[in-house]
Amino acid sequence: MTSIQWFRRDLRLDDNPALLHAVRDAAATDGGVVGLFVLDDSLWGRSGTPRLRYLQHSLDALSEQMGGRLVVRRGSPAEVVPTVAREACAATVHVAESFEPYGRHRDAETSLALERAGVELRTTGSSYAVSPGRVLSRSGTPYRVFTPFRTAWLDHGWRAPAGSPADHTWIDLPSDSLPPIDDPGDGPVLPEAGERAARTRWREYLDAVARYDDDRDRPDLDATSHVSIALKWGEVHPRTLLSDLRSVPGAGADSFRSELAWREFHADVLFHSPSAATTSLRPVLPDDSWAPDELAAPMLHAWAAGRTGYPYIDAGMRQLLHEGWMHGRTRMAVASFLVKDLHVPWQRGAAHFMDRLLDADVAQNQLNWQWVAGTGLDASPYFRIFNPVLQGKKFDPDGAYVRRWVPELRDITGQAVHEPWRRAQPPTGYPARIVDHAAERKVSLDAYDRARRG
Ligand SMILES: Cc1cc2nc3c(=O)[nH]c(=O)nc-3n(C[C@H](O)[C@H](O)[C@H](O)COP(=O)(O)OP(=O)(O)OC[C@H]3O[C@@H](n4cnc5c(N)ncnc54)[C@H](O)[C@@H]3O)c2cc1C
Repeated sequence: MTSIQWFRRDLRLDDNPALLHAVRDAAATDGGVVGLFVLDDSLWGRSGTPRLRYLQHSLDALSEQMGGRLVVRRGSPAEVVPTVAREACAATVHVAESFEPYGRHRDAETSLALERAGVELRTTGSSYAVSPGRVLSRSGTPYRVFTPFRTAWLDHGWRAPAGSPADHTWIDLPSDSLPPIDDPGDGPVLPEAGERAARTRWREYLDAVARYDDDRDRPDLDATSHVSIALKWGEVHPRTLLSDLRSVPGAGADSFRSELAWREFHADVLFHSPSAATTSLRPVLPDDSWAPDELAAPMLHAWAAGRTGYPYIDAGMRQLLHEGWMHGRTRMAVASFLVKDLHVPWQRGAAHFMDRLLDADVAQNQLNWQWVAGTGLDASPYFRIFNPVLQGKKFDPDGAYVRRWVPELRDITGQAVHEPWRRAQPPTGYPARIVDHAAERKVSLDAYDRARRG
């Protein structure tokens, strides 16, 4: 008999409890393991080009670790997985549990289809140190506020990394080729994908984690880990990161652990409130306060292209275009600008991020957008409106981040780069501001007041 390891968002061999179970099952009958990845048409069609290209590289890296034996099949998992189980004479299919709305639905459907074929879908572990739904208050209810969640999450604790699988045989079956990616060729330069590259980058970053607390808000210093991409694809598990952090005690490691707790909190919120993927958890504005489509569309276009005339916002959006990643502090500023200066609903910005980010993840993306938009459970209050100039001066104090991403402004030295409109001679090729921040801030606050008055 064989067993199947169905890889989804766990594209790694080490510290993968579901894979350990698949290997154990196979060893019990002297069989081998099929490593399967299903190219789910409904997800493939919806994913942005940068993410698809990264996935392709990550699958290549995984297959290389498996001696080229990763089996890739296209189609609906509820049909493909039972078919592969039949071909391989497998009695069990092993997976890490999914908690997002689509993943839960897909797994329920696939489990039923497998059951009909006499095959069991076994879940072990998840993409989180503590699976969503486990951390509950004393009264047994989910947490709505981050800080008590983090305390309870730390108290709950997590298992040690699971280690590597014992020697086993990967069973070879025919694979489908990946569908062509519609790539206009202007996409981001991708970082190296795969478990090995992720581990190497993380080990290097551990030396810098001591400075995380001081430098993490500075996009000009590039002082964060970039590990979000590897976490999104499961090239590394957060349990591994949390375990390694114990070797570098101090404020840096504490802050880093706290950021990982945000990741777990958002997954938990989405698990308990799946509608948060599309709908505001707390509506804060009257419906008529958003820009009408004919205004919103050009605004959204200028924002996405990094041509709003606000250098810090444009630097962030151009980093996204060129790297498929953006610094976290800048993500907050650009999101606030879209919602509160351009009056475009958060869902449209979130959709653009899902299209462009290599780390795009429904729980992290949608809940962070809701945090900025003031519509989340534990969100920044709506009336906290980021000033795009002051944010730039504070977190990019010498303007190096702006000069890096906005070449039209490279000749302006120091902080003056955040306000090019103050110069006697406006820089060539750089747009004028598309809105006046002070005026739009007032529009937003007036709408907020109107909502509060009912
Ligand atoms: C509007 C908006 C959209 C976002 N969309 C995503 C997304 O789609 N996918 C995603 O992984 N993160 C998202 N984030 C969260 C955060 O910006 C990124 O996780 C972080 O910037 C990634 O860079 P890093 O790995 O260098 O982070 P580091 O600063 O090195 O942090 C380490 C890890 O902690 C976690 N983390 C840090 N900040 C947050 C946060 N605010 N929320 C949840 N987890 C966090 C991430 O897993 C991150 O990799 C978004 C934030 C905002 C404001």
